[in-house]
Amino acid sequence: MKEQLVRLIELQKVESAAGKIHAKRKNLPVQMKMLEQEFNLFCEVVETQREQMESARKRRQEKDAQLQAGQESLKRTRERLFEVRNNKEYQSMLKEIEVFESKNSKIEDEVISLLDELERLETALKAKEEELAIKRRRYEEERKTIEEEMNSLVGELDGCIRKSEELKNDIPAEVLRKYEQIKSVGRGLAVVAAWKEVCGGCHMSLPPQLYNELQKTTALITCPNCSRIIYWENRNG
Ligand SMILES: [Zn+2]
Repeated sequence: MKEQLVRLIELQKVESAAGKIHAKRKNLPVQMKMLEQEFNLFCEVVETQREQMESARKRRQEKDAQLQAGQESLKRTRERLFEVRNNKEYQSMLKEIEVFESKNSKIEDEVISLLDELERLETALKAKEEELAIKRRRYEEERKTIEEEMNSLVGELDGCIRKSEELKNDIPAEVLRKYEQIKSVGRGLAVVAAWKEVCGGCHMSLPPQLYNELQKTTALITCPNCSRIIYWENRNG
């Protein structure tokens, strides 16, 4: 194949690789942000559960203190029962004891249900914290991978730029200008293969005469329809 064409095709390949690297570099910070958001969201969920458990623990302490105070009041009232002199006072004190007992029993029920709730919250929190540890590990690994990829892309891009500069130095200015001009129209590839009298860029038929010439000539030929630089590619191997 003609040397100029080989260089142009190579240049096109390098430039398209550089384009892909650019796209990836733009996308990596987006990926990173999504990763962070997802992880932070999970952290918040765990934090909320932790707060719920702390608040249940606090309520339990309060109830315990209430119960203790109630039991002491009950004990004191029972002791005073022996000092009572008349029946009326005795009856009223029994009533008081009954009220304390019923109050205490209600608090006891509340403590029991709080204990159930605490157990449930603790189990759930423990599971979530284990999940969080796994997620944190994975998050850090993925972060590192993205950071490494970003760094390696910088190197790859430098390589592409160096390579394309080298290639450009070996391509005649007028050929390069033509190539840049076709490329600037923004229809994808500027250099395309032709096979069986069809242009690989616009998929239109090429005049047989031109197609014949394409197989022999060393000059650059462009597609009469799309103006892309075409070359003959023998797909019969
Ligand atoms: Zn064409």
